[in-house]
This record gives sequence, C-alpha cells and structure tokens, in this order.
Amino acid sequence: MSTVAVIGAGIGGLSTAIRAAAAGRKVTLFEAGPEVGGKLRQLHLGDYRFDLGPSLFTWPALLQDTLASAGPNAAPFDFLKLDRSCHYFWPDGTRFTAWSDRTKLTEEIQTTFGMDPEPVLQHLDSSQRGFEATRALFLEQSLHESSNWRPKVALPHIRKALKSWRDLPLTRKLNDWNRKTGHPQLQQLFNRYATYNGSDPFRAPAMLHVIPHLEFGMGTFAPIGGMHAIVDALHRTALNLGVDIRTNAPVEQIQVSSGRVQGVVHSGNQTFEASVVVSGADVTPTYQKLLKGHGQPHRILNAEPSTSGVIFYWGMQHSAPELHLHNILWAQDYKAEFQALFAGKTIAEDPTVYINIGSKTSPEDAPEGAGNWFVMVNAPAGWDPQGIDDLRQRIEKKIEAMTGIHVAEHRVCEHILTPKDIAARTGSHQGALYGPASNAPLSAFLRQRNRDRRIKGLYFAGGSVHPGGGIPLCLLSGRITHELMTQHDPIQ
Ligand SMILES: Cc1cc2nc3c(=O)[nH]c(=O)nc-3n(C[C@H](O)[C@H](O)[C@H](O)COP(=O)(O)OP(=O)(O)OC[C@H]3O[C@@H](n4cnc5c(N)ncnc54)[C@H](O)[C@@H]3O)c2cc1C
Repeated sequence: MSTVAVIGAGIGGLSTAIRAAAAGRKVTLFEAGPEVGGKLRQLHLGDYRFDLGPSLFTWPALLQDTLASAGPNAAPFDFLKLDRSCHYFWPDGTRFTAWSDRTKLTEEIQTTFGMDPEPVLQHLDSSQRGFEATRALFLEQSLHESSNWRPKVALPHIRKALKSWRDLPLTRKLNDWNRKTGHPQLQQLFNRYATYNGSDPFRAPAMLHVIPHLEFGMGTFAPIGGMHAIVDALHRTALNLGVDIRTNAPVEQIQVSSGRVQGVVHSGNQTFEASVVVSGADVTPTYQKLLKGHGQPHRILNAEPSTSGVIFYWGMQHSAPELHLHNILWAQDYKAEFQALFAGKTIAEDPTVYINIGSKTSPEDAPEGAGNWFVMVNAPAGWDPQGIDDLRQRIEKKIEAMTGIHVAEHRVCEHILTPKDIAARTGSHQGALYGPASNAPLSAFLRQRNRDRRIKGLYFAGGSVHPGGGIPLCLLSGRITHELMTQHDPIQ
C-alpha cells in the first residue's frame, strides 16, 4: 500500500488527496488550521455569512471532474450559470454590464461606448482561440517533465498552437494587446484580467489575454450555497474516500533520507511515515521551513510575489439594487495603481474597488433586504496595515461618489483581512493571493514544478506552483500532481 501525506487542506491539497485516495492510496491530510479550505474559508458575523477568499467561480467542469474521480463517493455539488459576469463603474459615470449572452453584450458595447462592437468581439474570439491552442500544453500538464517534451507527445500540441499563432502574442504586453479593443475603457476592462493571477497588466505578457475567455466564453457561475460549497463538496468527498483529515496538525518538517521522502514531522514532533509527500502549502515556506538544510530553489524563492488584497467584510442593511454579484469601481488612473502596487509597494491613492455581494445569488447569506459585502482593493504582498482607517475612508468616499450608497449609514458589522492576516491564516508567502506574479514573459515556465527533481517522492500542488493560482488552476495542479505520482511512484 502506498501511503501519502498531503500538507495543507486548500483546493490544491484537497483535490490531490481525492484523486490519490480514489486511485487506491492511503492518504492522510495534515492541515495547520482549525478547519479545511485554506484561502476559501468562511466567516459568520451575526446574521451574515461571508466567503473569506475567492468570490468568482469559473470553469466548473474542473471541479466536477475532480469530484467525479471519486465515483460513487463524490459529494453532490450544484451551481448556477450567471447571465452577466460583472458590473463596471467608471469615475466619469460610464456604467457597463458584461452580459454572458453575446447579442446582449454586443448591444451593451454599442450603447455604452457608441462604437462598432466588432473589434471587441474579435478580441474575444482571439482569446478563445488562444486558450484552446495552449490549454493542453501550458495548463493541463507539467511543463517541467522531459517526457512531455518528447516529439511524439509535444508536437501535436505545438502544431495546434502554431495554427493559432496570430492569437499567441508571445512578445507583447497585455496592455498593448488590449488596445485592439478600440476604446480606452475597454482596454482597461481587459487589462484587469492580469489581476486574476495577481499581475501587472502593463508588464505582464499578452498571453494572459486567454483569461477573458473563461468568463466571456465559458461563463461565470455561482455555487449553490456560496463559494464555500466548493470546499464542502471537496471535504465531504475526501472523507467519503477515507482520507484521514487532521486539522490543527501543522507539518514542521518533511523528512528526507538518501534522496527520498520518508514522511513528515507534525503537531509538535510527531512522526508520520509516508512514501509520498505532497505539499499543498505555499512553495516558499515549504522549502524554507519544512525542507531546511536541503537545496533551496533560489530563483523560485526570489520570484516577485503576486498581489495580495485588503478585504473589508461588511454586513450592509441596504439592498443596493444597482449592484450585482460582482462589481468593479475603477481607479481613475489604472497605470498609477499598478506602479503603486509593484514599484511603490503601497496601495494606490485611488484604488480600483471590487464589491462582491454573495447574497445576490445566495439570499440566505444575509437578512432580507440586506447584503454581505466583500469589498477588496489590490495591495502589495506584505503590505503593512497601519493605514487601514485612512484606506477605509477613501473606499467609502469612492463608493458614495460612484454609486450614491453611504456605507457608514448602512453598515452593521465589519471584519477586515490584510495581507498579513492572509499570510498568518494560510501560510501564503507575504499573503500573496496567487504565488509568484506572472509579470515576466516566460512566467509560465518559471513557476515551481509539480514534482521535485532532487527529492524522490516529493510533489507540489496549489496556487503557488504550476499551472498557477485561482481555483481552476489549483484543481488542475491536483490532477497533474496525481498523474505524475501515478507515473513516478506507482502504487506498490
Ligand atoms: C481574498 C482572496 C480572493 C481571491 N479571489 C479569487 C477568486 O475570485 N477566484 C479564484 O479562482 N481564486 C481566487 N483567489 C485565489 C484562490 O483562493 C487560491 O488560488 C486558492 O484557494 C489557493 O488554494 P491552495 O490549494 O493553493 O492553498 P491555500 O488555500 O493557500 O491553502 C493552503 C493550506 O495549507 C495549510 N498549511 C500551510 N502550511 C502548512 C503546514 N506546514 N502544515 C499543514 N498545513 C499547512 C494552510 O493552513 C492552508 O489551509 C483569491 C484568494 C484570496 C485570498
């Protein structure tokens, strides 16, 4: 029997544990915190329920696939397809709804921006072609296994990608590529997709233009029961499969002998033997704390972190009819916002404000006529929360100016999460939301590999490693890691 120790019960750890247990391995999952979910935990404040981390759910087929790998042990999970992805508000009063339906979207572009919608529709088609051409090569397999680059395996993918070469802007920056939309406000809208992996659209490669296809082409969704239902489904499936889930059980060391993992030391010096160890914890503390004394991958550890965030969770006694599930109140100067974040290591004076109101699709999460507001601004990883009161005031003023809602009059409760809190709660390096940023042209190749090259039996899953951060990519990391485990550490 193959014994697997998984470190961390985030999406990456849980999904790897499910696939490994479903394949017949004996899996023990060690979670440092009091409950599973990692960044996707929840919070109750009086009559309000909040999802602490992710609020946007895309590419649900990956979650369904993970659950289906458990066969009859899969817990039920259900979701709605949304008719729009986001409501956008600009300081000049422009408002735009990103409808899922292409005809409605076309009309909205015409009426809002008074322009021919064709360049935007072509931009979206290019996003789809770019996504389809690269997903198998760059997202759905390891980039770091020589076996995946054997001509027989790689050539069909490369041929497919080459057919769409016009949609693969390898040498351009995302901001330049998005000029093709033909309108500065739409350029800004498409630039925001760089933040889906915590990057800077003015430096990030234009290859990130494949991300909008996830929303505009595949759709945005809302899990029934809120985002936490994702964790619930994964958790229950893992339990049904017999995964031994231990909470309040921090791993302190990964034991290695003769170049092979032997198990882990956890919960105050207790040892646990395992032939395979999967770290679903952030790669930086995994090496710096759990693998002290072993070779450290300096390039990975010195990589520029992705952005973090400051999130205000507000119980609001206001129905906010002009707001939907996802709302963006733009910064006046988007470029200045990213300069502040990455060069200035601070939050912009006028930051873009994201308001998510989960109760718009899960009414049970707030009293009738009220809303559970999740209000987030981008922050540099490691941001010092000293200026939090000033930030709150600036955000309230912006919301009032752009929506007419006077926050302080309606707010009945509050909780705040800063980059430091995110780091403390999830072990994420400096509280970065998505591991390293993708600001460099070859970022996809520069992330931590899913199988350690030097230590046999050691694997990595989750948002700080390949293929990247966010729920869909974390689920893919679980699948890739499990496939590598099957290949390199087959069940004895
Ligand atoms: C505020 C916020 C908003 C976000 N918005 C979105 C969004 O809208 N859509 C989206 O797709 N993604 C979003 N993300 C990103 C997404 O949440 C993450 O990419 C994903 O949840 C990360 O999962 P993970 O498996 O890497 O691990 P994490 O969720 O980071 O979990 C790691 C787990 O490992 C545990 N751990 C760490 N060290 C140890 C140890 N030594 N021993 C035992 N356990 C340990 C931690 O306690 C934690 O539970 C957001 C994240 C945040 C914080």
